[in-house]
Amino acid sequence: MEFRLIDRIRERTAQGREDVRLGIGDDAALLAVPPGMELAAAVDTLVEGVHFPVGTAPADIGWKALAVNLSDLAAMGATPAWALLALTLPDTLAPAAREAFVDGFADGFAALAGSQRLALVGGDTTRGPLAVSVTVHGFVPAGQALLRAGARVGDAVLVTGTLGDAAAGLALWQRAESDARAASLVARLNRPTPRLAAGLALRGHANACIDVSDGLLADLGHICAASGVGAEIEAALLPRSSALLGLFDDAAARDLALSGGDDYELCFTVPAARATEVQADLARLGCGATRIGRIVAGEGVRVRDADGGWLEPSRRGWDHFAA
Ligand code: ADP
Ligand code: MG
Repeated sequence: MEFRLIDRIRERTAQGREDVRLGIGDDAALLAVPPGMELAAAVDTLVEGVHFPVGTAPADIGWKALAVNLSDLAAMGATPAWALLALTLPDTLAPAAREAFVDGFADGFAALAGSQRLALVGGDTTRGPLAVSVTVHGFVPAGQALLRAGARVGDAVLVTGTLGDAAAGLALWQRAESDARAASLVARLNRPTPRLAAGLALRGHANACIDVSDGLLADLGHICAASGVGAEIEAALLPRSSALLGLFDDAAARDLALSGGDDYELCFTVPAARATEVQADLARLGCGATRIGRIVAGEGVRVRDADGGWLEPSRRGWDHFAA
């Protein structure tokens, strides 16, 4: 099937790796997991119009399809190694348009894969509504993966980078706004940066970790549920970019930071006494992390507003995220 397309993808993503005994071309890839390592495996599917807006550039789709998966490996503290790619392309596309799409897609995918020495080792190519499914595999020393379960009462809650940018970017894209600040937010939506180095640095330090794909409240809620604890966060401490604060009022920026998805930052907990040291470690890697709250006994995530009162979820439009 589609051999010319597969060849174009293979040429653009070539990456020599010792542990790939057999890559694209046979019925299955043959891969060697290094001794002492566990295999971390994750898959995410992006459907046009659902996970990326219609009209997104092929190279951005290629980057993002891999980035969202690498973010899952980052959240586990795993080092990426291999990927599989299932590509569903509309049969309404003429052959030349299909090739142009595949070339752009593969270039965006390869830009990120190459930076991580990740090898594309196989996949599947079919016709239908535009959708991309990437499976990634990575390594983590046995027993050292970062889990959602493990947060303890008294832990500090931290988050890398800034929150709310990608959701703001989506809103601006829909309004076709295009100044430099808007462009930086749209770039957060289309070209998320998986926090791989931070994830590795958190091994042995973080008690719990997750990547923020569905919004901070939802994803920190997953840590709480898995760990059997609650969390209290301070709205005033939420890290927000100057572009976000420049284009949205404070309440809107706060709500985007609390519940906007697609930022792919890491949210993690560490013993409070070690929070400053961990922040310094991450800062040395060029990845800022902000302390936003703490783990408490109980369940669910509560948010204290700048005036000291608790935010009322049901009136904020993010009540479906409340624990
Ligand atoms: P099969 O019928 O055995 O599934 P295919 O014709 O689907 O074989 O695929 C041929 C080879 O190309 C396989 O090694 C497969 O993993 C690889 N391949 C197919 N589609 C892709 C893709 N989109 N990206 C990377 N490799 C692919
Ligand atoms: Mg196949």
